[in-house]
Amino acid sequence: MDFSLPAEAEEFRTEVREFLAEHLTEEMIDATHDGTIHSWELHRALADRGWLSGAVPAELGGGGRDPIELAVLIEELQLHRAPIDAMGVAIIVVSMILEHGNEHLKSTVVPRLLDGQALGCFGFSEPETGSDVAAARTRAERDGDEWIINGTKMWTTMAHIADYVVLLTRTNPDVAKHKGLTFFLVPLDTTGIAIQPVQTMATERSNATFYDDVRLDDEWRLGEIDGGWEVMKSALKYERGIAGGQFPSPPVIDAAIDWAKSNPGAGGSRQIDDPVVREKLVRSLIDVEVCRGFAYHTAALASEGAMFGVEGSMTKLFASESYKKHCRWFLDLMGTDGLLTSEDPDAHLGGRIEENFRHAPVTAIYGGTSEINRNLVAEAHLGLPRARP
Ligand SMILES: Cc1cc2nc3c(=O)[nH]c(=O)nc-3n(C[C@H](O)[C@H](O)[C@H](O)COP(=O)(O)OP(=O)(O)OC[C@H]3O[C@@H](n4cnc5c(N)ncnc54)[C@H](O)[C@@H]3O)c2cc1C
Repeated sequence: MDFSLPAEAEEFRTEVREFLAEHLTEEMIDATHDGTIHSWELHRALADRGWLSGAVPAELGGGGRDPIELAVLIEELQLHRAPIDAMGVAIIVVSMILEHGNEHLKSTVVPRLLDGQALGCFGFSEPETGSDVAAARTRAERDGDEWIINGTKMWTTMAHIADYVVLLTRTNPDVAKHKGLTFFLVPLDTTGIAIQPVQTMATERSNATFYDDVRLDDEWRLGEIDGGWEVMKSALKYERGIAGGQFPSPPVIDAAIDWAKSNPGAGGSRQIDDPVVREKLVRSLIDVEVCRGFAYHTAALASEGAMFGVEGSMTKLFASESYKKHCRWFLDLMGTDGLLTSEDPDAHLGGRIEENFRHAPVTAIYGGTSEINRNLVAEAHLGLPRARP
C-alpha cells in the first residue's frame, strides 16, 4: 500500500508552511491564553489567500479545492498551534447558507464571512439540550413579516467576537421534536441579545447567550419554516468534514519528547533512555499515524465525491480520545514538572503539557461527544441496533 499523498498536496503543504512562517507569530499563540482561540490578523491572511472560500465545496459555488488539501491545511495549522477556531466555523456557516439560504443571506453575509471581515458562531446547544439537539426550546414566533425570539443558548463559543449566530429555534411545539425546528442567522448586535462569558477549565472561553424578545425580519431565516432539521443535518455533515481533519496533538508529543531528552532519569541516564518512557512516546506517535490514516482516508473519499459521513466521526473520536490519553500519560511521566502552568517561568515549553491536559477533555465534548460518535460508528458502520429513541 502506498500511503503517500499526491504530489500537489505535498506542494500545497510547502505553501502552507511558507505562509505560516510569514504570518503566524508566537505572540498570536500566546494571546490565546486569554481563552479566545482566534487571531483576526491570521484569519484575514487565510481569507486573503483564498483558503476560506477554497474550502467551500464547488457544487455550492465555493472554491472547491481538493478536500485532501483542506486536510493538509488543517494538519499544518494544528502542527503549528495556530489559533483557528473561527476558520472551521466560517466554512461551515457559508456552506449552510449556500445550501439552504435565501438571496439576502447569500449576498450580505457570505462575502463578509469569506473575506474574513465577519465571524459566525453556532447557537445549537441549550442549558437542557446538547447531545439531544433536536429538543431545542428557544422559541421563534411569527409576527407579521417578523419573528420574535425568546430563549437561552449555552456554549455559544466565539459569540463575544462574532457578528452572526446560527440559531436553532423551535417554531412548532406541537409536532415531533425534529419537525418543529427553524434556523435563523441572527446578527449579534440585534436588540434583546445578551452575551455572558463561560470560562472552561480548558482556558477556552465560551458564552451563554440570552434572547429576550429579539425581533427579526423573515429575510434572516435560514431554510424552510419547520425544516430546521434538514439544515442541521447539513451543518453536521460539513462539521464532520472539518472534524475529519483532526489530528491528535503532535505539539504535545513534541513537548514530551523534548522533556524526556532534556531531563535526567535513573542512574545518570536521560528520561528518554527509560523503556517505559520510550514506550509511551512511541505509542503516541503510532496513534498520530493511525489518526492521519483516518483523516486522509476521509479526505480521499470526499475528494472522490463521497460526502463526509461516519468517517468524520471515527476520526474525531480517535483523535480526541488519543489526545486525552497522551496528555494523561505525559503528565504521569513528568510528575510535578508537568503541572507547571504557562505563567511559571520554570514550566517546560511554556507549560504546554499542563495546558493540553486541561484542553484535551473538551475536544471529546464539543462537536459531538465521544459517546455520541461511538453510537454513530456503531450504528452506521458496524450495523449495530440503534440505541437511542
Ligand atoms: C468548550 C465547549 C465549546 C462548545 N461550543 C459550542 C458551540 O459553539 N455551539 C454549540 O451549539 N454548542 C457548543 N458546545 C456544546 C457541545 O456541543 C455540547 O456540550 C455537547 O453536544 C454535549 O451536550 P451536553 O453538554 O448538553 O451534554 P449531554 O448531552 O447532557 O451529555 C451528558 C453526557 O451523557 C452522554 N450522552 C448523552 N446522550 C447520550 C446517548 N444517546 N448515548 C450515550 N451517551 C449519551 C454524553 O456523551 C455526555 O457524556 C460546546 C461545548 C464545550 C464544552
